[in-house]
Amino acid sequence: MSAILPCPEVTDIIREAGSGTFAVCMQCGTCTSVCPWNLVASYSPRTLIRLVSLGLEGFEGDSLWNCVTCHTCVERCPRGVEIADVVRATRSVVISMGSEPVEFRGPLGSLRADGNPWSGERSDRTKWREDLGVPAFGAETEWFLFTCCTQAYDARGARVGKALIGLLRRAGLSFGCLGREESCCGEMARKAGAEEVFAGLRASNTALFSEQAVRKVIVSSPHCLDAFTRDYPDLDGSLEVVHHTALLARLLEEGKLVPKREVPRRVTYHDPCYLGRHHGVYDEPRAVLSAIPGLTLVEMERSREKSLCCGGGGGGLWREIPAEQRFAVLRAREARETGADTIAVACPYCMSMLEDAIKVLDLENEIRVRDVAELLAESVGEDE
Ligand code: SF4
Repeated sequence: MSAILPCPEVTDIIREAGSGTFAVCMQCGTCTSVCPWNLVASYSPRTLIRLVSLGLEGFEGDSLWNCVTCHTCVERCPRGVEIADVVRATRSVVISMGSEPVEFRGPLGSLRADGNPWSGERSDRTKWREDLGVPAFGAETEWFLFTCCTQAYDARGARVGKALIGLLRRAGLSFGCLGREESCCGEMARKAGAEEVFAGLRASNTALFSEQAVRKVIVSSPHCLDAFTRDYPDLDGSLEVVHHTALLARLLEEGKLVPKREVPRRVTYHDPCYLGRHHGVYDEPRAVLSAIPGLTLVEMERSREKSLCCGGGGGGLWREIPAEQRFAVLRAREARETGADTIAVACPYCMSMLEDAIKVLDLENEIRVRDVAELLAESVGEDE
C-alpha cells in the first residue's frame, strides 16, 4: 500500500467516530514499549497517535494494518487513550479512500456476498451440524446458540462446536440454533475498518434477532462476544451474551455438568485478548479446566492481563506474516516451556494461529491445541 495522502479532515473524522481520546496523549511511549510487535519487529503506536493528530501527514500506510487490537497498550496507557479504537477509526478513513489491503479483499468480498469471511456458500452454513439434530430456536427456547463462521465453515472449528452442543445437551439446557439467515457478527470487518460491510451484517443480524425475540445468546468466539455487546447498539440492553466458557463454568457450579473421566494432561491456558483484556473473563475458563479430574493446569509467565496475543485479531488472521514474526510462534514456545502437552484455548482465532505455529515449530507430536469445551467434553463423556 502506498503512503496515505494527508487529509486535513482525518483528525476530525476520527474524533467524530468516537475515537477522540488521542487528544490527551502525552507521547510518553508506554504503548510502544508494551506493544507485542516490538518482540519481532519495529512498530510504534505512539507515532500513529501523533500522526493522527496531524491529519496523518507523513504516515506510511502499511504499518497501520499491523495492529492486532490486542489491547495491551490500552491497558497500560496512563492517559486512557483508546488506541485500538483510534487504529480502527483510522483504518476506516483509509479504506473509505479506496486503500484496502489486498489480503482483506477475499474475506470482505465473502462477507458482502455470503455473510461469512471464509468464501463459504450461505446455503452451507448449517451443514456442519446437520447430523446432530439441533433444535431450531423458537418462542419456547431459552438460549440461542450463535454459530461462529469458523464453526460453520472450518472442520476444526466444527469439532469445537459439536463438543459444545454435546455439553449443552448433557446439561439439559433449553437451546436452539437459527438457520442460514444468520450472518457473521462482523467483528473482523469492523476492526479492519470496513464499516460499510460491518453495518450490513449488523443490520441483518439485528433484524433477525429482533424478529426471533432472541434474549440470551451463547457465543464461542470472544470476537462475536465483543461485537454483540459493544457494536450492536440496537440490541443494547435487550440481550444477554455469554461466552461458552462462562456458561460451562456456571453449569458446573450448578451441578448440571459433572466431569467424571480422568483427563491426564498437563494443560496451559492461553487467554484470548478479546475474552481477557477486552472483557475481563479470566477465571471462568480456568474454573472449567480446574474441575476436570486428572488435569494439571500450569500457567505461562505471561498470562491473564499480560497474556501474549496470538496475532489473529484486528484482521491479523488474514495477513501474511513471516513465520519468525508470528506472535503465535512465540506463544507456542512459551507454552512448551511450561512442560504442557496441551494448550487450552477459548477462541477460534487462537486455535487456528496456535495450531499453525505448532506445525511451524514441528511440535505436533509434543503439544496440541484444544478448546476448553473439548477438554470438558472428554471428561464428561461427550467427546466425539
Ligand atoms: Fe500516548 Fe498513551 Fe501511548 Fe503514552 S501510552 S504515548 S499517552 S497513547
